[in-house]
Amino acid sequence: MPRVPSRASVAATGTWVDPDGIRAPAGEVHAWLPGTNQTVCGLSLHRARLRRFAHVDWRDVQPSTGRDADEVQVVCPRCAAGMGHRRDSRPWTRHDPRP
Ligand SMILES: [Zn+2]
Repeated sequence: MPRVPSRASVAATGTWVDPDGIRAPAGEVHAWLPGTNQTVCGLSLHRARLRRFAHVDWRDVQPSTGRDADEVQVVCPRCAAGMGHRRDSRPWTRHDPRP
């Protein structure tokens, strides 16, 4: 990757609508740069069946700080690393390797 993006949106395996009526990500979340067809870790949005959340900032789905992280279960560690976050800050965000 050429550089660490300064800002990213979110792609996730699930979705829910929060009490304010905003569509928010759920399940496993990846960093996604709007205008691209893949996540920061290189997953194809289409093949991985990820939903796009262009209105949600990557920082807002971090369980430690994010306001949109209520339904987030897994933060992709490769995306977190790609976005410059340390993966050892939240041990429960372990990501099972793909088969
Ligand atoms: Zn990812």
